[in-house]
Amino acid sequence: MRNCDIAELLARAAEHAKQPLQRALRRAARRAFLWPEEAEDMHARGESLTLLSGIGPYLNKQIIDWLRDPPELEEATPEIRNNFLTLSEARTLRTKYPERFSEIRGDLQMHTLWSDGSGSVRDMAEAAMSRGYAYIAITDHSKGLKIAGGIDENQLSKQGEEIAAVNEVMRGNAARFRVLRSIELNLSPSGAGDMEQSALDRLDLVLGCFHSALRRKEDQTERYLAALRNPSIHILGHPRGRIYNFRLGLSADWARVFALAAQLDKAVEIDCYPDRQDLSIELLAIARKEGCRISMGTDSHGPSQLAFMELGITAAIRAKLDPKRILNYMPSDELLEWAGKIRELITRRRTDP
Ligand SMILES: [Zn+2]
Repeated sequence: MRNCDIAELLARAAEHAKQPLQRALRRAARRAFLWPEEAEDMHARGESLTLLSGIGPYLNKQIIDWLRDPPELEEATPEIRNNFLTLSEARTLRTKYPERFSEIRGDLQMHTLWSDGSGSVRDMAEAAMSRGYAYIAITDHSKGLKIAGGIDENQLSKQGEEIAAVNEVMRGNAARFRVLRSIELNLSPSGAGDMEQSALDRLDLVLGCFHSALRRKEDQTERYLAALRNPSIHILGHPRGRIYNFRLGLSADWARVFALAAQLDKAVEIDCYPDRQDLSIELLAIARKEGCRISMGTDSHGPSQLAFMELGITAAIRAKLDPKRILNYMPSDELLEWAGKIRELITRRRTDP
């Protein structure tokens, strides 16, 4: 029984439990995706499962009962909880493909104190450097997303000064580490952003994301095509909008969406946050076929979450993506050259009669 199976059993038990047990079960189900190794292996070694996050004496006993006598699961895992990778699976893959993990040069989605993150720009930069990265992109929320502390043009410009100062301190560093200016641009369901173009023009990269009308059942292909055609956008972030055990996310003709991304040379994202893992392996396989670029971002809300990158790398390997099509394996010069080319194309279109 693997950690993802234990997570499913915990989530199912939560459906019939009363509070506060229900909350504990739901929390443990989510935490199981971040356990560093298989609970089954730990138990076989005689270690207590209370060493694992979210597990107290009661759940320890419950899980041991399941390990001894695995319950028959009559129904398959529902889609709202299906196809999520565990950190333990990622660690197994890391020993098999060490270079895919060690050659990552940067992380392209994270939040700081400027919006809803818990670390400063400098904190995130230092954590990234200690992971051996050459760059990170700071992608705080834009002003339309008030609930997540979205920032306006003025704050974005002040953040730019802070980033410049951090880069100045980092200069002369052996790794030539660099903090890139970016944003998580909040997109309306029609694919429009919520910030002045002139403010976006000063950024290195723009990540565009939907945060509204995410429970629509009808096909949403048109909104994705519109978002990709939005000239400000380089990367389409957490495309489907799914969240583990909370929201299924949107559906679309993904082949058409990824084909347009390929045609415009734009990237679609693997948001590596454990509850998101969006795009999933299945959708990434379609993206590979259509040939579009992939970006990986941890969506970190604090320095320790940069480790979520392992989930994205694992998804990329399992979907057989070519690292050459993944932005995070590019040196920063090459990445910025690509971003600049997309901008040029847009400017040319804007000035052409
Ligand atoms: Zn978001």
